[in-house]
Amino acid sequence: MAQLSPLLKQATPVLVDRGEGVHVFDESGRRYLDFTAGIGVTSTGHCHPRVVRAAQEQVGKLIHGQYTTVMHRPLLTLCERLGEVLPEGLDSLFFVNSGSEAVEAALRLARHATGRPNVVVFQGSFHGRTMGAASLTTSGTRFRSGFAPIMGGVHVAPFPYAYHYGWDERTATEFALRELDYLFATACSPADTAAFFVEPVLGEGGYVPANREFLAGLRERAERHGILLVADEVQTGFGRTGRFWGLDHFGVRPDVVVTAKGLASGFPLSAIAAPRELMNKAWPGSQGGTYGGNAVACAAALATLDVIKDEGLVENAAAMGQRLIEGARSVAREHAVIGDVRGLGLMVGSEFTTPDGKPDTATAQRAQREAAARGLLLLMCGAWMNVVRMIPALVVDAEQVDEAVQIWSDSV
Ligand code: PLP
Repeated sequence: MAQLSPLLKQATPVLVDRGEGVHVFDESGRRYLDFTAGIGVTSTGHCHPRVVRAAQEQVGKLIHGQYTTVMHRPLLTLCERLGEVLPEGLDSLFFVNSGSEAVEAALRLARHATGRPNVVVFQGSFHGRTMGAASLTTSGTRFRSGFAPIMGGVHVAPFPYAYHYGWDERTATEFALRELDYLFATACSPADTAAFFVEPVLGEGGYVPANREFLAGLRERAERHGILLVADEVQTGFGRTGRFWGLDHFGVRPDVVVTAKGLASGFPLSAIAAPRELMNKAWPGSQGGTYGGNAVACAAALATLDVIKDEGLVENAAAMGQRLIEGARSVAREHAVIGDVRGLGLMVGSEFTTPDGKPDTATAQRAQREAAARGLLLLMCGAWMNVVRMIPALVVDAEQVDEAVQIWSDSV
């Protein structure tokens, strides 16, 4: 009998039968508060009726039509609708299936359009697991070791992870930008650099928000040296942080946006957006994939956009995110093992640290398992997997946030 590969190892032993809103139910009917949302994917909640209806209707009409041969209405309409929410000037879209594929697409576009070999990423970054994307990923050696040689031309500069350095935000930011300039002076000429790839909030790297000064510093260097600023909004996009895009918090303009996860409420769909003149530098056929822009996924994405707007989910993410982070901070005040609580909107992370300041992975994992046993599903992140993160659907309400905080308090 065939078995699942250990690559599909589960963090919590829950066999899910169905999902509804912020809850999933196992085969015995036990209810769990799902504060993982399929790793930040099911932002409109599990099986939102409007998303289900849109997908069902599309399944009955056209499941798949490959865009190199036939175009279909859901893809065209989605392009128009995304144009309404994308940062100004990003008026050309390309669709694939996953975050990693979209990162690969942005990477190729950046190299292609600039003719430059290098890219700069920031320590703790996560951009995916395919070879190119894994080469940009520095949030844990587990994503890279054993796969050498990975792609060359990737340089790593510090991210302003103030808690890790034991500094205030300003000092960490000054350090990060100074080191970036040092990198440019020593190992990676800015004239050979195609792009910065940056997450507005380090996701897998430990839920560390960037800040305005840091991102403005990148923007300024991007302008000065003709480098593209690629915002990886795979985790932070679609209202997750309480603004439509993570970068909206910081008033910084990207050249390319990478999006996936919340885009289609769980259907595999991702995209990159860039100005037309940049995107036009790639030639047809150089990128793409059989399933990119799948009709059912596009229909689900259209319904997702409607739900986000009609139900005020961006505003809800901001309000519930505030409630959640305050709750998580109150739990941290009771438990010295939680050294830092941080996040943006409905991305909230609690970092576990031993009394002598070392990452406390064991206690974090015990708390996560304890929470699961009490009916609250949570995820881990961080280089040492010592950050427990809460990332519920954007439809979460105050009562559900309070219930999760109570369970969390009982579990630590
Ligand atoms: N970029 C970021 C910021 C992510 O958080 C992820 C996944 O967690 C990816 C890229 C890769 O996306 P996927 O797992 O869909 O390939």
